[in-house]
Amino acid sequence: MQAQEVLQKIWGYAEFRARQAEIVNTVATGQDALVLMPTGGGKSLCYQVPALMRDGTAIVVSPLISLMQDQVATLLQLGVRAAYLSSSLSMDEARAVESQLLDGRLDLLYMAPERLVLPRTLDVLSRVQVSLFAIDEAHCVSQWGHDFRADYLGLHVLATQFPHVPRLALTATADSRTRSDIKRLLGLEQATEFVSSFDRPNIFYRILPRLNAMDQLIQFIEREHRQDAGIVYCLSRAKTERVAEALRAKGFDALPYHAGLSADVREANQTRFLREEGVIVVATIAFGMGIDKSNVRFVVHMDLPRSVEAYYQETGRAGRDGLASSACLFYGLQDVIKHQQMLAQSDGSEEHKRHERRRMDGMLQLCEITDCRRQFLLRYFDEHMPEPCGYCDSCLEPAKTWDATEPARLALSAVYRTGQRYGVEYVLDVLVGKRSDRAVANGHDQLSLFGQGKTTALKTWRSIFRQMLAKGLLQVDSEGHGSMQLADSCRPLLKGEQKLMLRLDAASANETTSRSRAKTAIDPADEPLWLALRGCRRRLAEAQGVPPYVIFHDSTLQALVEHMPLSLQEMRAIAGIGETKLARYGEAFLQVILSHVDAMNA
Ligand code: ADP
Ligand code: ZN
Repeated sequence: MQAQEVLQKIWGYAEFRARQAEIVNTVATGQDALVLMPTGGGKSLCYQVPALMRDGTAIVVSPLISLMQDQVATLLQLGVRAAYLSSSLSMDEARAVESQLLDGRLDLLYMAPERLVLPRTLDVLSRVQVSLFAIDEAHCVSQWGHDFRADYLGLHVLATQFPHVPRLALTATADSRTRSDIKRLLGLEQATEFVSSFDRPNIFYRILPRLNAMDQLIQFIEREHRQDAGIVYCLSRAKTERVAEALRAKGFDALPYHAGLSADVREANQTRFLREEGVIVVATIAFGMGIDKSNVRFVVHMDLPRSVEAYYQETGRAGRDGLASSACLFYGLQDVIKHQQMLAQSDGSEEHKRHERRRMDGMLQLCEITDCRRQFLLRYFDEHMPEPCGYCDSCLEPAKTWDATEPARLALSAVYRTGQRYGVEYVLDVLVGKRSDRAVANGHDQLSLFGQGKTTALKTWRSIFRQMLAKGLLQVDSEGHGSMQLADSCRPLLKGEQKLMLRLDAASANETTSRSRAKTAIDPADEPLWLALRGCRRRLAEAQGVPPYVIFHDSTLQALVEHMPLSLQEMRAIAGIGETKLARYGEAFLQVILSHVDAMNA
């Protein structure tokens, strides 16, 4: 079959996206490829389609069992002959898969790298026809990134043992160092590189100063994502528990997830997130990789991520299905201080610290910029976006700036006059003239600037300190105790040679969230049909013990709502309904639509 025909018949998709067609063609004709595409870009089709076009079995290397299971479940639904080998299978099950492989009855076989490189596995593979090797999450081979897996290094052997089998490596990690590691360590120097745009146009980016984070979070979910599945990231285990608890108290179906929970609980919570609709997982970053759920509608960060890369990867878990989704980050003065302290206390080499500092600076800049977030993000990944996106908080509601020169100078003086030995709270007390015991004991209540800042709200002072830290005008002491110190770059400002314009923080969170929000997916008038279709999907999924999105994606249900096909023939035209799914589920969903139409006409 031709690529286009496979895509239409099996997946029910009318056309390839972006560079998929080129990649499929490269691999189908036996050449190697390196594919860099953002999460949700459609990497899987790049090897699944050629796997069906070429003779033999495609071997897919994947780092996580949950990823393999999800992919295999999805393929089986499409009527594709797929299986995985992993330690979770019993001996008998594994043997059954192996005999399917030996008999040539598999189109795709997934396995972990450590299994693939076993002499026994390589021996079996040398006796069957392998159509291609796909190395998913290929950045795991690089020690540079944060997902390093030593087992990936062993995959180099494929180049020598199977010189005639095309190999493709896929990743959503964009930076050039990782990319060159992949080529070198996997022996893919000759591979054609396909780099897609890393833009995720369906994700609405929003970054808000933290006021009362819990209230802000609840408002955000209530207003924009009432029924939706989402992930809320927190830095500490204790905080995930607290936040999950608070969400449950408000009636949300929220579950914690962190490395301190037993494996059973983690597994149970993850399964509920995957199988049920509208579950919110409150997690440390231990949760996420390997989550293939396509309809995660929002990702919230309650704490500042450690780098732009991490932020982009984590927010990228929203909206894989291409439907409107949000990324929302709350951050404040304490985040900035905590980060700088951590950096000061880390005992890595100077080079490592410099590198970490650069990464963090990028994250702080992203938070404080007053223009388009997406332009900044793409520029960070060396991509040029000529116009502001029109779909982020900065674009929808341009941040105002104000001349903060005078208060900033006062703040710097306060740091200086108190000896650059105190934390921000102490300096704030002096500024607003709070006569604490400590201030009195130190004689700081006698300073001429004591209380000179009392006409400015404490919230504004925090915003000023936060932004001065982020801009590098102030810094945290080098031992990491958290004392405020002047940085060299503050001199021109202190001497009156420079003005300082700062971002005016929104007065309250609801102000921003109510006006700038993600385009909501479903028209209220269509809700009854939408819910009925979701109900039908849930019943079918439960009967088979698979996640609902494996039956149909949200985007397919949405297309059904929009086009309301009244026959199986009409249903064929819906994106995401290939031949197998039409035969299996067409009738059930058709009945839902027909009874909806009857009810409307009654
Ligand atoms: P990635 O692995 O890059 O994160 P996936 O391969 O999971 O992305 O694809 C993301 C989603 O996009 C999937 O739901 C997939 O079915 C869908 N998709 C991929 N390619 C196409 C296409 N050409 N047309 C329509 N949907 C597509
Ligand atoms: Zn924008």
